Amino acid sequence: MKTPLIFDASVKGRCAATIPASGVPEASPLPANMTRITDAVLPELSELDVVRHFTNLSRKNFSVDTHFYPLGSCTMKYNIKSCESAAALPGFNGLHPFYTYLPGGSKEISGSLELIYESERLLSEICGMDGFTCQPMAGAHGEYAGIRMIEAYHKSKGNNKKYVIVPDTSHGTNPASAALAGYEVITIPSRPDGEMDIDALKSAITPEAAAIMLTCPNTLGLFETGVREISEIAHSHDALMYYDGANLNAILGKVRPGDIGFDVVHVNVHKTFGTPHGGGGPGAGPVGVKSVLLPYLPLPKIVKEGDGSFSVASEDDKSIGKMAPFFGNFGVLVKAYTYILLLGKEGLIDVAEKAVLNANYIMEKLKPYFDLPYDRRCMHECVFSASAQTKNGVSALDIAKFLIDREIHPPTVYFPLIVKEAMMVEPTETESKETIDRFIEIMIEAAKLTQTDPAVLKNSPVNTPIGRPDETKAARQIDVKMNCGL
Ligand SMILES: *Cc1c(COP(=O)(O)O)cnc(C)c1O
Repeated sequence: MKTPLIFDASVKGRCAATIPASGVPEASPLPANMTRITDAVLPELSELDVVRHFTNLSRKNFSVDTHFYPLGSCTMKYNIKSCESAAALPGFNGLHPFYTYLPGGSKEISGSLELIYESERLLSEICGMDGFTCQPMAGAHGEYAGIRMIEAYHKSKGNNKKYVIVPDTSHGTNPASAALAGYEVITIPSRPDGEMDIDALKSAITPEAAAIMLTCPNTLGLFETGVREISEIAHSHDALMYYDGANLNAILGKVRPGDIGFDVVHVNVHKTFGTPHGGGGPGAGPVGVKSVLLPYLPLPKIVKEGDGSFSVASEDDKSIGKMAPFFGNFGVLVKAYTYILLLGKEGLIDVAEKAVLNANYIMEKLKPYFDLPYDRRCMHECVFSASAQTKNGVSALDIAKFLIDREIHPPTVYFPLIVKEAMMVEPTETESKETIDRFIEIMIEAAKLTQTDPAVLKNSPVNTPIGRPDETKAARQIDVKMNCGL
């Protein structure tokens, strides 16, 4: 049912709260050029009206708290609420970012600085790195910071570097970050087994390569088994190895990027450690580096003093400088820190094992019904193709829309780009076998309907307020303005 605008439900004079008369003398009015000419048009409703309005709107939301959300690459897992409670503690939540600039301010917020410092240490241990920065505010932002440090490294050595190498299975942000930093991008094709073609790499690479960026597991959900050889090739040309660890839940406690030849790694803590991803909410993309890159880490850096207190270093000639206001998205870091301590070493290993087990379970169960272009053990996600279904006129998009009617968020579709009619399923480690089995059942139903009654798929969704919007118009002629007399 369509919910009316809150303005349309307004009744003149209705009110949600009574405010006592002010006992304070009125201040002199603002200058005329700074005051409104007309009264603000605000809706007038009772508290109950407001609560019902927003509760009903929120029920139209698809969220991890309400539904299964196997959106590949995005790790839409359930996040433990105690991490949220930690971030909401008044000592963290009420902190003013200007505190550090006050005389003695660092001492006042020493605990928060320690939390960032300790998070950097924990992430260094988890990833096998020598140092970390928690400044970047998203995965792509972390990539950009990493590439800028690689650039600073090459400049300091007088290296003439022109391009960054990525495989065609990399996440789109990898070539974008390299290009934003001013590098050309060279794309290496993948082999039929889904891994980077090392022979093609050997013939493409020259001393002008600044770095090789590997999304690992790659966007096919496969681990690049040739990483050691790839990193030897890179290092023999003084190119650095970049690990896109956005999906670290696939390898937690199993392998450390720093142990297999990588010099830089970024982690999406808003996928792996305790903050939900998606919806454009705040994230954090901490970046870890090997010792050769430590001098270039962004500012400010948190320093542990001899007496055990913490201070902030805001100047450093070699650093690439500031990447974010203040200390990045601090609340997200509090959640990540809490999550890591809460789970501990064994818990983190369990995360990786369950994430991988769940994806492989789905892959095996759905293999008889959908094309599986890379039929081998996957990591935390598996990629099917709806190519077989297109023969009956049903596309990956139709299957995605059908799932919405069954109250399941669709998997990522049409990505990775190298798979036609791709459906990229990431169940995450947090879902129960019952939920996963229900998803499998519904996908099998979709496969069967494709043959018996494809119109059901083509006409879905039927249970949503809007069926299939014209996606081009929704993007090009966006109209979110409401007419309420303003
Ligand atoms: C999500 C993701 C990114 C980008 O992270 P953002 O926080 O959305 O910028 C980069 N690489 C991979 C592999 C990802 O899954």
